[in-house]
Order: sequence, then structure tokens, then C-alpha cells
Amino acid sequence: HLSDRLAETFKRLKGHGKLTEQNIADAMREVRLALLEADVNYKVVKDFISQVKKRAVGQEVMRSITPAQMVIKIVHDELCTLMGKEGEPLVLTGKSPLVYMMVGLQGAGKTTTSAKLALNLKKRGKKPFLVPADVQRPAAIEQLKRLGKQVDVPVFDTDPGQDPVDICIASLADAARAECDVLILDTAGRLHVDEALMAQLKAIKERLHPQEALLVADSMTGQDAVNVAQSFHQSLGLTGVVLTKVEGDARGGAAISIRAVVDVPIKFLGVGEKLDALEVFHPDRLANRILGMGDVLSLVEKASEAIDQEKAEALAKKMAKNQFTLEDFRDQLRQIRKMGSLDSILKMLPGAGKLKNMKNMAPDEKEIKRIEAIIGSMTVAERQNHNIINASRRKRIAKGSGTTVTDVNRLLKNFRQSQKMMKQMARMGPKKGLGKMLS
Ligand code: GDP
Ligand code: MG
Repeated sequence: HLSDRLAETFKRLKGHGKLTEQNIADAMREVRLALLEADVNYKVVKDFISQVKKRAVGQEVMRSITPAQMVIKIVHDELCTLMGKEGEPLVLTGKSPLVYMMVGLQGAGKTTTSAKLALNLKKRGKKPFLVPADVQRPAAIEQLKRLGKQVDVPVFDTDPGQDPVDICIASLADAARAECDVLILDTAGRLHVDEALMAQLKAIKERLHPQEALLVADSMTGQDAVNVAQSFHQSLGLTGVVLTKVEGDARGGAAISIRAVVDVPIKFLGVGEKLDALEVFHPDRLANRILGMGDVLSLVEKASEAIDQEKAEALAKKMAKNQFTLEDFRDQLRQIRKMGSLDSILKMLPGAGKLKNMKNMAPDEKEIKRIEAIIGSMTVAERQNHNIINASRRKRIAKGSGTTVTDVNRLLKNFRQSQKMMKQMARMGPKKGLGKMLS
């Protein structure tokens, strides 16, 4: 696995310090190989490597983690970014009924996925309605009817002699009668992308205005799936992709490439033939799979914690030396924002729990943004020494940050208060307070 290989590569790199272009060159070679082996598009791999390099070179390696772990964390983060950090949810709001149109080549899994999606939506309190709009193969109508029965979702009684556009339009009235709020259109596929098929799908799209046009693509076809996605997106304008048969695809390259090359979000993964075998796509899980280790998440967490921990330690040292500046104040706020609560910061600073009023200092999200803007408008000299911030400087800072002089004054007052508190904490001494953590 990639992570094992990285660890191997880094064994030679003892000691710590900064990551350099030279000492990550071997690791980057491994990352490149692993991605190519996963069948990721070579152009995507190239861009990815250069992005990772950009982030890694010059990074200081934290004392508590190894350089390999550091690089794994960076690769992991960048993979997640590449695949669209949070993952994009289905559009669930709009004029009722919502219309989801399933498109794709024959055998990709459209009909199965339509039923899977219906089941998924039902579990979320929606009332889906399945529409067989594939009259190419008469068996397809029967297939969807059978699947609809399995998930207990009504299926439109398609007349196989009708035109697919007319079928879709006719189904609207039936869906309304059945009080359904999501229409799922199971369209026809071909063995290859062809003009006639695209024309038909376009006509359906223009008449039905679907909120979602979802391409169902077989992940086992690798780079072909990328090309198919590209063509469908160009002709139709997709809103998302469902990658099927992912459970049999050890490589995961299609997912990365589709997102990077076609720039359409992957919304679901099909992970089996059963109707509950549909998963919401999580970029981080795929990143873990590609990195090839089950515990990469805990590793990444550990690295993040270590980074926070070392920042907290550095801060504590500064406090002890009475060098707490506005710059540090801002860092501290960023930490708070990242970690979600002041309590978790307090936990990192033994002894701080005794300072009850510190909790009351916890500003809300909006306040933190305002404070960041104000400090951002200060010069470096001002951040290092707040005493030089006179009336005219305050005016300039307020103007620059889109706030008022009153806001600036309040910030400076808060800062002085917390500075005072830092001094108190430092005075608690090495036995009781911060020093304990440092030893
Ligand atoms: P369509 O032609 O695009 O409508 O494809 P179908 O829905 O008929 O599916 C074709 C075959 O792929 C069927 O045998 C399905 O059971 C199978 N299939 C669909 N999705 C998955 C999946 O996620 N995993 C596996 N293993 N098989 C799947
Ligand atoms: Mg089908």
C-alpha cells in the first residue's frame, strides 16, 4: 500500500526539520505510481503531484509525527480537495415533484440505481415515483416494475409503444395523483454514446427540467467511464455522477479522474447488486482506500492533534515569557474556530480551567470573523506591539476592516484582558499550570 511504501521511503530520512524538494522526491515517485496504478488519468496525476509538492516543500515536520506521516496527511488532504471536500448532496428542494433523470450506457446500472435511489429517498421521508422510460428493451420496463415492488415504490405503467418524452410527461399526472414528490426517470442506454440517444435524452431534459441529471457509470471501466462522463456532460449538462460496481473496483481511479477531468461531483457509489447497496459519496473515505490503510483517518487525526498541540505549547511558552501579541491572539482565535469550541482549547492548557471567566470570552462565529478582519488590517508592527495603535491608526484600521472604531477599541480591550490572564496563568508556575504540560 501507498502508506507502507511511503513509510519505507522515509526510513532513510531521520531527524526532523523542514520537508525539502529533495527529501520528498522519492515519496512523490511512490504517490505518482500508486495513482497511476489506481488508473487515475496521467494529467490529473501530474497536476496532483505538483500541488502536493507545493504544499509539502518548506513544511516543518512536527516533533511528534514522522515525515512520512506528515506527507501522508498532505496527500490525504489534497486527495480530498481534489474530489470535492465535503461531497455534494442531492438537490432535495424545488417545485414538486422534483425530477431526477438517470442516464448512462447500457449495463451501467441505471435501472438498479433508480430503485436504489427510490429506497434511499423513501428512508429520508420522500415519496418517490419510478418511471420506466427505456422502451428500447421491453424487459427493462418489467425489471423496474419488479424492483419497484421490492422497495415498495409505485412505478408508472409505461406503454412500450409510446415515445419516451411522452411517457415522462404523462407520468407527471400519475405521480401527482399518487401524491409523490420525486420522479425518477429510468432512461434508455446504448452500448456506446450515440447521437440518437443524446437527442432523445436532451428532449426529455428540455421538457421535464430535472433538478438532477445523474450519470450512472460503471467504475470497472476505468478511463472509459471518464470519457463517457465527458461526452454526457458536454451534451446534457450533468449535475452528478453515480459510480456503480465500486465494491469490485480495487483501484478507485475513475472517481478521482471524473471529478478532476469532467468537474461533475460524484454523489453516490453503488456497492453491490442489492437495493440497499448505495452509499453517499465521501471523498475522505475514497482517499483512505487509495492510500490503502484502514487507520489512515486516525493517523490524520493524530497528525492534526499533534500540530494543534505543538501550537498550543509554543503559545504557552510565549505566555510564560510574556510575549503574547495580537498575532498570537489571532492564531488562538483561528484555533478556536477550527476546533469548534473554546473548551477544547482550555483542555490543552492545564490550569486554564480554573479561569472561569475565560469561557465567557468565547466569541461567536461572526465576532471571530470581525476580529480577524480587524487584526488583518493592522500592520505587522501594530500586531507586534499594540501600544502604538493611537487614535488615527484606529480610524485607519476600522476603515480597512469595514468595522467601526468602537469595534477596534473593544477588540483591543479584550486583547489586553486576555494578555493579563496569560500572565496570571504563567505565574501559576511550572508545577500547577502550563509548565506541567511543557515538561
Ligand atoms: P442499466 O442497463 O444501466 O439499466 O443496468 P442495470 O440496472 O440493468 O444493471 C446491470 C447489471 O449491473 C445488473 O446485473 C445489476 O445487478 C448490476 N449492478 C448495478 N449496480 C451494481 C453495483 O453497484 N454493484 C454490482 N456488483 N452490480 C451492480
Ligand atoms: Mg436499464
